Amino acid sequence: MSMRKTVADLHNELVRYNLVAWTAGNVSGRVPGEDLFVIKPSGVSYDELTPANMVVCDLDGNLVEGEHAPSSDTAAHAYVYRNMPDVGGVVHTHSTYASAWAARGEAIPCVLTAMADEFGGEIPVGPFALIGDDSIGQGIVETLKGHRSKAVLMRNHGVFSIGKDPKAAVKAAVMCEDVARTVHVARQLGEPLPIPQDDIDRLYDRYQNVYGQRSPR
Ligand SMILES: [Zn+2]
Repeated sequence: MSMRKTVADLHNELVRYNLVAWTAGNVSGRVPGEDLFVIKPSGVSYDELTPANMVVCDLDGNLVEGEHAPSSDTAAHAYVYRNMPDVGGVVHTHSTYASAWAARGEAIPCVLTAMADEFGGEIPVGPFALIGDDSIGQGIVETLKGHRSKAVLMRNHGVFSIGKDPKAAVKAAVMCEDVARTVHVARQLGEPLPIPQDDIDRLYDRYQNVYGQRSPR
């Protein structure tokens, strides 16, 4: 199954962009056309991940295929796939700057054109939630449903990001940390200037609909 390779490989990006320490971060991807997703095995280090040791779960988070236990964040990923049918990839990290905003329970304000492009506004904060049941998943879905942002700062915890596929979710996690860092740095010497809402709307629309290579038809 090629989704096993995609998900295994994308974990290298979490390491490359310095979003994770030890094993605390994970990527998952929905298997196209099936009620299944592929996710990182629990406690296996990033340099030992292979397509073969990825874990396949159903949308209730039950293990379907794999020799390892799935990531301890599997219930949250499963809840997102069950409740957001357009989501094809989910990423979780404790990346430093974004988690610092989460620790304060503070949304990252939209003060950079790159944020307007990618997130269409602020990056919101989700509720405080303990691992073990559906509360993390519920918090992610409640915050992101109907929001332009593809990333949420779960309070006192870290980042969950979503995308149409796992690569898009990884990109959102990388960009979230990047803007969290820049806005943090900007704050050190003053108050960053807000971008007017109609300019945010224009930037978001252009980036989402016009920017980049047109896909061949
Ligand atoms: Zn976590």
